[in-house]
Amino acid sequence: MTYLGTHLPSSAGFYKMGRAALEMGANTLQCFVRNPRGARAKALKPDDLEKLRVLMEENQFGPIVVHSPYIMNPCSKDEGIRALAARMMSEDLALMEYLPGNYYNFHPGSHTGQGLETGCKQIAEMLDSVVKPDQKTTVLLETMSGKGSEVGGRFEELRRIIDLTACGNRLGVCLDTCHVSDAGYDIAGNLDGVLEEFDKILGLDRLKAVHINDSMNPCGSHKDRHAKIGEGTIGTEAIVRVITHPAMKGLPFLLETPNDEAGHKEEIAMLRREIGEITNG
Ligand code: FE
Ligand code: FE
Ligand code: ZN
Repeated sequence: MTYLGTHLPSSAGFYKMGRAALEMGANTLQCFVRNPRGARAKALKPDDLEKLRVLMEENQFGPIVVHSPYIMNPCSKDEGIRALAARMMSEDLALMEYLPGNYYNFHPGSHTGQGLETGCKQIAEMLDSVVKPDQKTTVLLETMSGKGSEVGGRFEELRRIIDLTACGNRLGVCLDTCHVSDAGYDIAGNLDGVLEEFDKILGLDRLKAVHINDSMNPCGSHKDRHAKIGEGTIGTEAIVRVITHPAMKGLPFLLETPNDEAGHKEEIAMLRREIGEITNG
């Protein structure tokens, strides 16, 4: 089975979140380990994470993705905000050792006027300060739409960050279909071309997870507004081509579409029907 899932709230606890994923026909998930504004989730307890780990194992889950809080910006011109980013990531990674073998995805950040090169250097510096040589979590850089002063809209920018780190051989990339399209990569019309470019610049072996989102805006718009699958400029067929592409085999696919739990359940079922994994429902 293809690893399909969605972003779920972890506020009621991690085991409950795993049950909710199963309920939706998912076999992977994405979540925050703190609320998106950065405060520590109250429900966070190591034994709860251990129960989720067992549930995932018993139900043949693929790797899951913990998403960094949205407020995290490792390349802000404000030193305090950069320090906070390092602290949040290091705390999140420490907690994730209870769920070995999964992914921690973060937005490289916005350089807030410092320029791309300074931004890349500060992101690399933070990564080297928090990524431990023996940790069991792979940190993923997310491909971004390139809005504002966002770093990571071009594959070259992610490459630059990786090249500036000492821990680069242990970093991966999470491809977001809405973001790459908004950044100007024609994932709907020329998936093979986009993946060839990804391979040339980053190497397909770095691709560890995929965010499957439709986009409200045309390719190259630099907007970052997610749409439900089939209700945007990418379309269901193109998303299905992404999920079934041989280069994507075995990766976790996570929906971040503007939908409620029932809507996500239907979206997962629709995608499983489209890829021929369920024939009814
Ligand atoms: Fe993201
Ligand atoms: Fe995303
Ligand atoms: Zn986005």
